[in-house]
Amino acid sequence: MQNSSTDSKLDSLPGLASAKRVVRRLSTEELGVHAVLIYGTVGSGKDELAEILTEAWLCSSPGSSGACGECQSCRTFERKTNADLLHIKPVGASSIIRQAAVVQDDTQDDYPVSLRQFFRTSPIYSRHKVGLIQQAHRMNSASSNALLKTLEEPHPYVKLVLTTDSISTILPTILSRCLAISCELPTEDELMRLFPAATKEDILLAEGAPVRLQNILRKPGPYRDIQEFARSLPHRKPSEALVLSDKFKDLADKLDGAGARVNNSDALAMLATCLARNPDANPRWAQWTLAAHRHVVGNGAAQAVFDSLFARMLTS
Ligand SMILES: [Zn+2]
Repeated sequence: MQNSSTDSKLDSLPGLASAKRVVRRLSTEELGVHAVLIYGTVGSGKDELAEILTEAWLCSSPGSSGACGECQSCRTFERKTNADLLHIKPVGASSIIRQAAVVQDDTQDDYPVSLRQFFRTSPIYSRHKVGLIQQAHRMNSASSNALLKTLEEPHPYVKLVLTTDSISTILPTILSRCLAISCELPTEDELMRLFPAATKEDILLAEGAPVRLQNILRKPGPYRDIQEFARSLPHRKPSEALVLSDKFKDLADKLDGAGARVNNSDALAMLATCLARNPDANPRWAQWTLAAHRHVVGNGAAQAVFDSLFARMLTS
């Protein structure tokens, strides 16, 4: 069995003992569950868990340790080209998952295929067709209601994996049709046990989220640079705004995330955390930084967002 099996991927995720137990069972047994909602804060490991479960549900010849890592489905999943997986996330400046993602029958740029169209045909080479909806709380009421229909009468080959960091804003009717899996953050003591090399400051910066902490410890330089950047901000002049914007973009590029948008949004999230704890910083700066974060998550052009954020901060 290859290293890419579900078991070994779960083992490499820190913490999350009870959530991992559920995902392990769902990966290896047919429990009649069509939809799961995996929830937890940024960096808790929910997106990693969602990927692991998605791969296992797609795999055409799963074994006792989950996905085989070798079939066409597993190989295309690894290359991010699995045709039986539809990945939906928020797009646009408003960062909303619009109804077109779920039921639109005409091709739209943002969502070339809707979930309903996707589920209409049986899998090509995988065991199931999987719709993976990240940040499910960003569905507006039209898309939530459209999704409900999908959840009410699913084909046997249909599986849905939803993730959110805001379970309280998910429609109760959707919640009641999903198996909810909580990615609870470990206590500080547990984190210290899991990561003996972590300092209290690392844990603060990771906001107690184990996957985030793991990334920070793996490559601490860029994170320390962002902390230092946040400390220096209150002492900068308005004329430096554009230079700082460029510098911040460089810092974001050095983070270890999955692609530029993730790096840019992570950098902003960390900057907001640092600013919120910095007594020298204008108290509104952290809020503005979080607004910029939402903008970047919703596909806003990062450099333009950074430019206006730092100009606004330094002239306030
Ligand atoms: Zn496989």
